[in-house]
Amino acid sequence: MAKQVDLSASLKEHFGFDTFKGNQEEVINNVLKGNDTFVLMPTGGGKSLCYQLPALILQGTAIVISPLIALMKNQVDAMRNFSEDDGIAHFLNSSLTKTAINKVKEDILAGKTKLLYVAPESLTKEENIEFLKQVKISFYAVDEAHCISEWGHDFRPEYRRIRPIISEIGESPVIALTATATPKVQHDIQKNLGMLNAMVFKSSFNRPNLYYEVRPKTNASKEIIKILKNYVGKSSIIYCLSRKKVEELAETLVVNGIKALPYHAGMDASTRAKNQDQFLMEETDVIVATIAFGMGIDKPDVRMVMHYDIPKSLEGYYQETGRAGRDGGEGKCIAFYSYKDIQKLEKFMQGKPLAEQEIGKQLLLETVAYAESSVCRRKTLLHYFGEKYQVKDCETCDNCVNPKEEFEAKGDIVKLMSMILLLKERFKADHVINVLTGNVNTAIKSYKHNEIPEFGSGDENDEKHWNAVVRQSLVRGFIVKDIESYGLLHISKSGHEYLKKPASIKMTKDHDFDVVEEETNT
Ligand code: ADP
Ligand code: ZN
Repeated sequence: MAKQVDLSASLKEHFGFDTFKGNQEEVINNVLKGNDTFVLMPTGGGKSLCYQLPALILQGTAIVISPLIALMKNQVDAMRNFSEDDGIAHFLNSSLTKTAINKVKEDILAGKTKLLYVAPESLTKEENIEFLKQVKISFYAVDEAHCISEWGHDFRPEYRRIRPIISEIGESPVIALTATATPKVQHDIQKNLGMLNAMVFKSSFNRPNLYYEVRPKTNASKEIIKILKNYVGKSSIIYCLSRKKVEELAETLVVNGIKALPYHAGMDASTRAKNQDQFLMEETDVIVATIAFGMGIDKPDVRMVMHYDIPKSLEGYYQETGRAGRDGGEGKCIAFYSYKDIQKLEKFMQGKPLAEQEIGKQLLLETVAYAESSVCRRKTLLHYFGEKYQVKDCETCDNCVNPKEEFEAKGDIVKLMSMILLLKERFKADHVINVLTGNVNTAIKSYKHNEIPEFGSGDENDEKHWNAVVRQSLVRGFIVKDIESYGLLHISKSGHEYLKKPASIKMTKDHDFDVVEEETNT
């Protein structure tokens, strides 16, 4: 047990803050007790403090594993601002000279260093492991812990070696932190770090001031211009998938009298920095960018984030739209969707390793579900993060503002869940739907599912209808996707209860974007 400390006084003394943000205090107490801790907090929530403060309080040096050199440097500088001794925080990575490394080691062995930031690549080096074996380590902090999971947005294979290396250096408690909160990623992290029993502190990922909307992608450029005409003098970001589209769209906007600049990784560094600065200084209203733009950019008053192309994952969508309205003011998030874009994205994946393709496909399916569904967008997004959003109508998304026509879904839900059970909960949604609709393909034949009497028992409705039933049953929590396999449909406890006593449930039809597209094109 750590000695009793006045945490508020420590917070004030070391960081100058008067109060803790969110559940920082509970997290810190858990770390101080020497327990494994898992923190899921959206960006800007104040994760760093959750390990910085205990590191200052506890004896020994905390090892902070962080993937980005630039991030490490910022954090070390920030820590030094609060201390008289520069030795209080150091980093160890490939950018350091031999002399600098020796100074770091000297300070650590002298007991001056409370926080040592290391890149996973440096942590895996034998000489560093040997050195750290001599050090008294208070705990390990794994920052950006989603890098462990192939289902996260920034998978790094070195992150998977952290656990064995910790065992080699010497066991100490672990605190893992991330802003990626999908149940799949969370499970991967806990399993890989051997901390399935950790206390989990999860903040809400809801952003109440953001308005979510999906529009069919027909004449998107024209619509974007129309929207931006009402946002003159305000800051907007428009994301496109390709560099070429970024250039094209920025040009189109400029021609139409909108102050816009492009930003993507293929531009030279100085132009890129210049465009970014112009956006930050509000000399330009709009930045048209690939997802290279936005990391670490903290412009609080972005009023609009548009996605010209639908993103590859909902996680990415959440992070990118998250850059709107950080000051708590208005933030509109509009995505343009067409199924053709999804097919394009699938095509891009084709050269990749099979496992990666499979993950990419599953993540894309979630995006499709989000776009096509007429369920509250907020509810769908938060469900993706494993969070229950209980409010019936958020009032700040297109689906809540313009609800679709409802239908009685009791019979369909029962039929779907009975089929999932009949198939012994061993299949993904597409297969279950194929059995319901009586659609023969290779997989159906190999399982001989076309020979069971129930084959085609739901063929009074099409695949699209059944997809909507699956999605809405997922959001309601009647069915869940298996966490290990990701995708096999299981019936939850509440699903079993519903099956025993089915009650009337109204569902909404999915959007039919393809039809809309055809109509406007002719
Ligand atoms: P995250 O890593 O979760 O994105 P940070 O650790 O960078 O968030 O913190 C976000 C901002 O909140 C930083 O500017 C930080 O100084 C500030 N912050 C953190 N904790 C507190 C607090 N208790 N009171 C006030 N500001 C805080
Ligand atoms: Zn809503």
